[in-house]
Amino acid sequence: MKLALPRDYARKVWRAVVEFDLLEEGDRVLVGFSGGKDSSFLLYALKVLQNSAPFRFDLGAVHVDLGFEQLSDVPHLEEFCRQLDVPLTVQKTQIAEIALRRSRNNPCASCAYFRRAVVNEIAAGQGYNKVAYAHHNDDAVETFLMSQLYSGKIQTFLPKSYLDRTNITVIRPLVYLREAEISEFVQTLQYAPMPSPCPFQGKTYRHKVKELIESLTRENPFVYTNLAAAMRRDALGDLWPPAASREEMRQKHQRTMRPAAGDDHVHSE
Ligand code: SF4
Repeated sequence: MKLALPRDYARKVWRAVVEFDLLEEGDRVLVGFSGGKDSSFLLYALKVLQNSAPFRFDLGAVHVDLGFEQLSDVPHLEEFCRQLDVPLTVQKTQIAEIALRRSRNNPCASCAYFRRAVVNEIAAGQGYNKVAYAHHNDDAVETFLMSQLYSGKIQTFLPKSYLDRTNITVIRPLVYLREAEISEFVQTLQYAPMPSPCPFQGKTYRHKVKELIESLTRENPFVYTNLAAAMRRDALGDLWPPAASREEMRQKHQRTMRPAAGDDHVHSE
C-alpha cells in the first residue's frame, strides 16, 4: 500500500504531536483498533508519521472483540494491518454481555471502562509504553457537552494522560481532526472500515449530543467552534464557588444572625 497523507491532515496530526508532546524517540505505541473509520485512520496516519518522523518509534495494534452477536471480521483487520506492516493482537472478550448486565439502557460507560482495561493490560504485557486512541475533535467537544449535561462537570478527555497504575501514557493524536475529514479521507483508501457490531450505535447519549450540536450549529455556525474554544482552561469565566457544606452553612448562618457589637445601645426613644 502506498502511504501518504494530504498536507492539511499531516499538519493537524503533527500539531497535536508537538503541542501535547505525544511522541518521542523510542516510544512503543499500541493503537486501539476497532476496525472502524477513526481507528483505521489513526493507524494509517501513525504509520505515515513513523515513516517520516525525525525519531524512531514502534507501532502495534490491538483489536478487542467485545463479544456482540455480530463477530469482528478478523481476517479483514489482519489484512489492513499486514498492508501497513503493523503487528495486530486480537483479544476476544465478553465485555458486551457484562456491560449489558450492568446497565441494559446505558452500557457505554461499563463497556468503555472494560475495553480500556483490556487494552492497557495488553499494552503493559507486551512492553508498550503508550496507547493511542482515535478520539477526534468532535469526540472531545461532544464529551465536553455531555459531561455538563449528564454529569454536572466541566471536563473532557485530555490529548495526553498518564495512568500510574499501569505506567501507560494514553495519547490522542487526532484531536485536531474533525470527524467529517476523517470519513472523507478513509473513503480514498483501499480498505472498507468495519461497521460497528454494537446494537447501541446511534442510540447513545453521545449520539443525542452530536445531533443537538449539529442542530444548533445549523442555526448558528459558531456553536461548534465556541464549544471547542470553551474546552480550553483559559476559557473559564466567572463560576460560582463550591456549594457550602452543612457545617459551613451553620457557621455562616450564625454569623449572619449575630447582632453587630453595640447594637443594643443604638436604639433611642
Ligand atoms: S456504543 Fe456500543 S461499543 Fe460503543 S461504548 Fe456503547 S456499548 Fe460499547
